[in-house]
Amino acid sequence: MKIGTKFIHAGMEPDPSTGAIMTPVYMTSTYVQEAPGVNKGFEYARSQNPTRKALEEALATIENGQYGLAFSSGVAATDAVLKLLAPGDEVVTGNDLYGGTYRLFTKVFERFGIKFKYVDMGSLEAVEAAMSAATKLIWLETPTNPLMNIGDIAAISNLAKSRGALLCVDNTFASPYLQNPLDNGADIVMHSSTKYLGGHSDVIQGALVVNEKGLYDQLYFIQKSCGAVPGPMDCFLVLRGIKTLHLRMQRHCENGEKIAHWLRNHPKVGKVYWCGFEDHPGYAVAKKQMRGFGGMMSFELKDNSVEVAKKVLSSTHLFSLAESLGGVESLINHPASMTHASIPREERIKNGLSDSLIRLSVGVEDADDLIEDLARAIG
Ligand SMILES: *Cc1c(COP(=O)(O)O)cnc(C)c1O
Repeated sequence: MKIGTKFIHAGMEPDPSTGAIMTPVYMTSTYVQEAPGVNKGFEYARSQNPTRKALEEALATIENGQYGLAFSSGVAATDAVLKLLAPGDEVVTGNDLYGGTYRLFTKVFERFGIKFKYVDMGSLEAVEAAMSAATKLIWLETPTNPLMNIGDIAAISNLAKSRGALLCVDNTFASPYLQNPLDNGADIVMHSSTKYLGGHSDVIQGALVVNEKGLYDQLYFIQKSCGAVPGPMDCFLVLRGIKTLHLRMQRHCENGEKIAHWLRNHPKVGKVYWCGFEDHPGYAVAKKQMRGFGGMMSFELKDNSVEVAKKVLSSTHLFSLAESLGGVESLINHPASMTHASIPREERIKNGLSDSLIRLSVGVEDADDLIEDLARAIG
């Protein structure tokens, strides 16, 4: 089955009681049992909910996996993966990460005795050098937020397997339309469903997809024991979002490509970070593991002062100044003071995230209007 058909029919069974084509929003906390222990597979809504079940099946389908799990946010999904570990375990991860992931690692899980090593995931040697006998998890974000660095999923997966570590890929930026990490050997794929999966900036949610039953059982146990589950209405919204993911992503990719090239040719624009440029250091790997390059990009101005960047950030009209990404509407963001403010400045600068970096989430509007908006703001 081709991808568009798959996205539309994923998790779709007509409702058994009425035939409703859309899975109803089951607003219930519990389920009546015929006799003690005799139920229809649903006991209590933290453990099971039919709307969530339909979504979880859809998540598994669109990531070419066996099992999906939905969480109350992307960071709750990450939190569940980290809870597979025990004190003394080590995690190797990237030095360019979503700020909230970095905060969860450094401020929460370090306190529980888990160690993190931050390296350039574009370098297999660096990943290998950071691994030890205690390494139990490799956490890979690709493309990275906000610098659009690329890690080789298949190569890192081979490394993880040879050392007995799990590989989890944060696939938020690419979405399942552009990249399916499980096909490249990853053990777990994670999403902030808040972004492209939801796609309409109206829900906070996270997801995990795996192939292996044992791993699924452990993660399901954590999901139900720790309780970071999404409500049924939120599940309905993400389920609906998934139906148009391929259509939206096609336009995000088209617009992204036009805008990345336009920025690069603009006399006032300095470096543009977009993984679809042939001279991007991760281009060959991106081309190998992705079906397109998406609508996320960052750039700096030639006059690389924070004041000039802030002026651009507050002068666009169609690009709204806001955190988040992946919605139908275009957003502009200042990582240093917004999405990545939780990373200490020194760390940010060391890893190439400057105070004047501007990040764009290119939406699905008409590209000409978006370009006109940026042209006016950059001046
Ligand atoms: C937003 C985001 C997250 C966190 O997801 P929430 O839904 O905001 O909790 C994790 N990773 C990446 C790459 C993100 O962009």
